[in-house]
Amino acid sequence: MTKPLLDIRDLCVDYVTPHGPVRAVDRVSLEVKPGEILGIAGESGSGKTTLAQALLRILPPPAVISGGEVWFEGSDILALDEPELRAMRWRRMSMVFQSAMDALNPVVTIGEQIVDTLRAHGGSTPRSARARAGELLETVGIPRDRIDGYAHQLSGGMRQRVGIALALALEPALIILDEPITALDVIVEREILEQIRVLQRRLGFAVLFITHDLARMLQVSDRVAVFYAARLAEVAPAAALRRAPRHPYTQGLLRAFPTVHPGGEEPESIPGSPPSLRNPPPGCRFHPRCDRAVDKCRELTPELRPLGAGHFGACHLAE
Ligand code: SF4
Repeated sequence: MTKPLLDIRDLCVDYVTPHGPVRAVDRVSLEVKPGEILGIAGESGSGKTTLAQALLRILPPPAVISGGEVWFEGSDILALDEPELRAMRWRRMSMVFQSAMDALNPVVTIGEQIVDTLRAHGGSTPRSARARAGELLETVGIPRDRIDGYAHQLSGGMRQRVGIALALALEPALIILDEPITALDVIVEREILEQIRVLQRRLGFAVLFITHDLARMLQVSDRVAVFYAARLAEVAPAAALRRAPRHPYTQGLLRAFPTVHPGGEEPESIPGSPPSLRNPPPGCRFHPRCDRAVDKCRELTPELRPLGAGHFGACHLAE
């Protein structure tokens, strides 16, 4: 069996507030294999981005990792000191943020930003780093002659591609894509997703792909993990999840997206809204919105358990 590249075990992240801790990631265990695309889906505030920030140890205060373990390429990420973390970030694990405009420096050319990243971590000469920056821009579909342009001179799609070029610069083993397509129109979104898939096949890196758009995610991911209210609801190969989702929340999420097939069913939203993490409901956190809830669901927390063929679900009624 292939050893996981990333092994997250019972990870907990709390936001420390004057009224007590609010748990934003609750006992999450997940693995990412080398070269795999793992999608992480869920509504806003379900813990997806907090999980990604915890993996790179870039959680903004007052968020703190309050339990669990994160192993990456055999190293205990939670035990690394600051110099070791700096050596790991970008070189072995990088991230493309939700808004490339916020992540890019507006007063430095995009070429210089890539050169700086290469030189800070790779020790290359200014000349070779610039040549490599040009190559990276071409790899993500930006003409090399845009190297001296600034972020504000590029379209949203191009800025997001620069973010991907920066993340690829040091050829990491894992790239985290945090809602990389949210702000883009449908055509650019599709182009970027296709490009990520092509690059991933060519370069062999693994991807943690975070989005609230489960339908898009199913097109590009090998496996998918569905978050609900800080916990994992379901984890499965993408094809199995599309064909036969086992958790009522995943079933609802899939029904909420329009189908592209002629005569397909009308999208249907999930009634109600996600619970506050300050005071989540007892038992299964989805029970107030679940039309299959029984008494047990209101009292006992369903644990994520194997359902066969790589499928896991946290539902008392899933078989
Ligand atoms: Fe619905 Fe109960 Fe399953 Fe939760 S455990 S998803 S409430 S059936």
